[in-house]
Amino acid sequence: MPQQSPFQIDIPATDIFSFAFPPDEPLSDKPLYLDAADTSKSLSPRQVVQWVKRLGLGLQRVGLKEGDVAMVFSSSHIFMPVMYLGLSAAGYIFTGCNPAYGVEEVVYQIQNTNCAAIFVEPALLSATLGAAAKLSFPHSRIFLFSDTECKPIQGLRDWRSILPSEQEASSWQWRRLSGSQSANTVACLNYSSGTTGLPKGVMISHQNVIANVTQSLYMRQLSNPPYPRNITQWHTVDERWLGFLPLYHAYGQLWSIVAAARTLTQTFFMRSFNFEVFLRNIQNHRITHIQTAPPVLVMLAKRPETAKYDLSSMRNILCGAAPLSKELQNEVSDKYNLSVVQTWGMTELTCSSCHVPGLLDDRSGSVGFADPNASIKLVSDEGQEVTKAGERGEILVKAPNVCLGYWKNEQATKDTFDEDGYLRTGDVGVRDESGWYWIVDRKKELIKVKGFQVPPAELEAALLGHEAVADAAVCAVHLDHEELPRAYCSIKAEHKGKVTPKEIQKWIAERVARHKQLTGGVIFIDEVPKSPSGKIQRKILREWAAKDAMKL
Ligand code: AMP
Repeated sequence: MPQQSPFQIDIPATDIFSFAFPPDEPLSDKPLYLDAADTSKSLSPRQVVQWVKRLGLGLQRVGLKEGDVAMVFSSSHIFMPVMYLGLSAAGYIFTGCNPAYGVEEVVYQIQNTNCAAIFVEPALLSATLGAAAKLSFPHSRIFLFSDTECKPIQGLRDWRSILPSEQEASSWQWRRLSGSQSANTVACLNYSSGTTGLPKGVMISHQNVIANVTQSLYMRQLSNPPYPRNITQWHTVDERWLGFLPLYHAYGQLWSIVAAARTLTQTFFMRSFNFEVFLRNIQNHRITHIQTAPPVLVMLAKRPETAKYDLSSMRNILCGAAPLSKELQNEVSDKYNLSVVQTWGMTELTCSSCHVPGLLDDRSGSVGFADPNASIKLVSDEGQEVTKAGERGEILVKAPNVCLGYWKNEQATKDTFDEDGYLRTGDVGVRDESGWYWIVDRKKELIKVKGFQVPPAELEAALLGHEAVADAAVCAVHLDHEELPRAYCSIKAEHKGKVTPKEIQKWIAERVARHKQLTGGVIFIDEVPKSPSGKIQRKILREWAAKDAMKL
């Protein structure tokens, strides 16, 4: 039998904007989203609502149609929440593009989403214009997007130039959703390769986001006496969050934008991650909680700069996005005298499906138990449901936070759900008698580098573009809790002896974002191991990589 969460909660059937800023509640003038580098730049709930109305009306006037996708290609700043909330409030779909992306990666996302408009930070203009040129994307639909107004560049206008005045937009109504509209209307497309293949647009509905924020906040306040049960009263608890998670990813969207608004928690945005600036921000803004991934915990545990800053305001760290050892979890917890709790999830689950409750001082390395309203089953390699405590199985989830499927990719959607409608996650877990889970392996292709996705299929396709490469397969080598992407390549006869692994590594580095580089090296082999049907035998690759890792 699948395991049901011990908790059932009500999930409001509405739209994200009405959930974040309930129309029947007074709007506060207190800064909500603040620039960590300069807190004179901030937005209060009242200001966010005004900007969202102006954006909604402005986009209607430039001709965007309901259901159109708009791509936002920017680092984090206080207007990102306006974009995320505003696009979905106006009936459009938000897709965020990783600011580390180069031309080819941007081309892929524009094409795959078929987006109708692009909002780009001026610093990222060259990749955007390169992509736009390849696709003949109209410049009239590209807008400069920054937290300060900028002059036109190469004929491109600042996004503010299409916005009506505050007064004109004051009576504009966002698209209120209820019932099945909330469940079926796509709010955003976050990119993930899922269990196999190239990155795909994961269709996240309004209801998915609302469900996952409500579930996550519920788990936060469980066994946690200072928190009022009603999340609308959370602002009575004095918390300050640091918004350094990327906002093109669900983890940042959920906490730094939607949960922050719903609980009126001041959130200080960092443009990009720099460890020393991060420490200074915690100290200066008296940050109480952070949501993060294991690489930041490694730095907090090991780096000497931590001694220079007063981090005593921190009470809790939520860690997800990649495996975390209990040794590291406990080291950080002891060093800073705070609780480190884990969450587990994936883009297809909106963000998460398991949490360790509240501020429990968990020291077990567990990812906690199933979020409210979720049902989880573990399935063996032979396809049998595993019910005994301690037995391994792939985790399958059915819950209100499970995505609608992949954007314009029915086959991938079909392959991702089992016959009972459970989402296959490709993660392998064990459960104990009390329903707590541990993640013990990953059976899907995906490699995670510092919490970021690296889909092997994407690197394999890029490698085949090299004139000397006949065939290629990519997997992770595991070293000191890190995953390093490694390529196994066979070389065309006429190029043998003329090309080196280093040259191929460099060639790839020039074409992909930094986290996708082949830091695990390139190995030349005679033939890529394939099944009779032509599928790469990834199990063999993993065995090779495990053997090779011992030699590193
Ligand atoms: P993403 O879709 O980018 O959020 O990546 C999701 C994947 O990250 C999951 O399928 C896991 O493989 C991995 N992951 C996320 N959280 C954890 C965790 N707490 N422990 C181990 N792996 C995790």
